[in-house]
Amino acid sequence: MAPSRREFIKFVVAGSVAAGCPIDETLLAAPLVHGEHFEVCHQLRDGHQFERPDATRKVNVVIVGGGVAGLSAAYFLRGKDWLLLEKEPQFGGNALQEDFDGQIYATGSAYAYGGDEGDHLASEIGLKLPFVNMPDPTIVNKTYVPDTWKTGLDQLPYPREVRESFKRFRDDMMKIQVREEMPELDAQSFSNFTAAYAPEVQQWWDGFGPSNWGATTEESSAYVGLSNLQDLLTGCDAKRAILPGGLGCITHKLVEVLYPKYKERMLDNAAVVAVVQNKDSVRVTYFHEGKLTTVSAKAVLMCTPKHITSRIVMGLPSEQKTAMRHYRFAPYAVVNVIFDKPVYNRGYDNWCPGNSFTDFIVADWTIQRNSGYKQKHNILSFYTPLREIQRSTLLEEADCKSLAARVLADFQKLLPEFNVDPVEVRIYRRGHPMFMAVPNHYTKTRLAASHPMDRVFFGNSDSGGPESLTSEAVRLSRVGSEWAELLLAGKPGARELAEKALQAVAE
Ligand SMILES: Cc1cc2nc3c(=O)[nH]c(=O)nc-3n(C[C@H](O)[C@H](O)[C@H](O)COP(=O)(O)OP(=O)(O)OC[C@H]3O[C@@H](n4cnc5c(N)ncnc54)[C@H](O)[C@@H]3O)c2cc1C
Repeated sequence: MAPSRREFIKFVVAGSVAAGCPIDETLLAAPLVHGEHFEVCHQLRDGHQFERPDATRKVNVVIVGGGVAGLSAAYFLRGKDWLLLEKEPQFGGNALQEDFDGQIYATGSAYAYGGDEGDHLASEIGLKLPFVNMPDPTIVNKTYVPDTWKTGLDQLPYPREVRESFKRFRDDMMKIQVREEMPELDAQSFSNFTAAYAPEVQQWWDGFGPSNWGATTEESSAYVGLSNLQDLLTGCDAKRAILPGGLGCITHKLVEVLYPKYKERMLDNAAVVAVVQNKDSVRVTYFHEGKLTTVSAKAVLMCTPKHITSRIVMGLPSEQKTAMRHYRFAPYAVVNVIFDKPVYNRGYDNWCPGNSFTDFIVADWTIQRNSGYKQKHNILSFYTPLREIQRSTLLEEADCKSLAARVLADFQKLLPEFNVDPVEVRIYRRGHPMFMAVPNHYTKTRLAASHPMDRVFFGNSDSGGPESLTSEAVRLSRVGSEWAELLLAGKPGARELAEKALQAVAE
């Protein structure tokens, strides 16, 4: 029997899915925790306390987590005495770029908005993010529809009454004063607003929501759904800006800027297991190079997601800890499909309702028109968020490869010209990368979870919102660095500054 075409395609799986656990089990080969090797992750999750040796080093500020939040905090504090601890072998977190044969693509975070905090930081470190400059198409029922929410509504390949329903939905939703009604809207499900229209309307949002904020229409906050719809309709999408690599281009550049000068302060493979605040200092214990080490700091910036933070910061007020544990996270795969010839270059972010992936992005879209640029490979990044109950799919390599094969097969069926075999398919899996923008998350849970302690600031994009945004990670790190400087200088106002930043509503 002839082997299937799939057998000739190389499938590569990367990324980790470690659940709620700051230590990767692969790091646990060395004797640790009184000689226990087995299921240490689970013990930590269940409240086991690691041995905490005496502090052997003092620094002013410890930054825990080297995603865009931790890296930007280090950047804002450059010149000061800090130590950055990151558990993975690389920095970048959910904003991580990779390359194929020198050609850059994203494994997570996709784009910023011109003028937002991420874009500002990018220009500060010498990156110019070009505009996407094109509204999003939808590809459905073998039809390509440009500019979905404006001219596209008349071209959607659905019966006339369905197209009319899309337009009624658009007109009705535009009448809602989203900002003014934020608390009421955030308390309810977005599906309360889609239910009265054709099911195809909700189906479209069942792709857009999980891709952008980890939650289906039914699970989403109506505030988040409606703000996004109004942004699309008022042309905010025109401000999207990015380079190949998605927002991994920023973390990559931050490492390039910081590492030559501060490499002894930037530890990778350093998993923090305990953060204990005392009156005048905070003791941070981490596992690095086979042993536990404690450093004493005057201030700590926690740039880790809350499901991890809640397990390593000791002495959290119980309501705050409960709020941190209340966060829900979507498991997420990004499947990069690499073609050695042009297959699709018609639109940047393309929505494809009803498939195993929600949308796909052309990796080099914003540089294609640069003079002298020649596309060597056509790399398409397929966003493939999963439901929480599907998280275990990402645990096994074989299941990841099947998922990626489904993504490829679904793509090949979208339009006849897509039936082309790639040279390689790469899957980047993450178990808990994106907090879900569920009802009450933005206006209640996140606020209860993110109050600073006397010497511990809770950053990370999940202290902001309303959805998981790199710009929020950067904004809060800028505030976190100012908070730390006030604290170190013995000046008043640190707590007020942090609280004000939490209350500020993202533009
Ligand atoms: C698929 C996908 C697409 C996205 N698209 C966009 C987009 O288009 N635009 C946008 O603005 N945002 C987007 N986001 C969201 C964005 O990626 C995140 O908001 C942002 O990257 C979060 O950065 P962070 O530093 O706050 O957290 P993280 O990236 O989660 O970084 C936390 C870091 O802490 C480390 N860590 C965890 N535990 C420990 C420990 N115990 N000790 C030491 N280190 C630890 C982790 O390894 C990680 O590196 C997307 C996210 C995903 C997953």
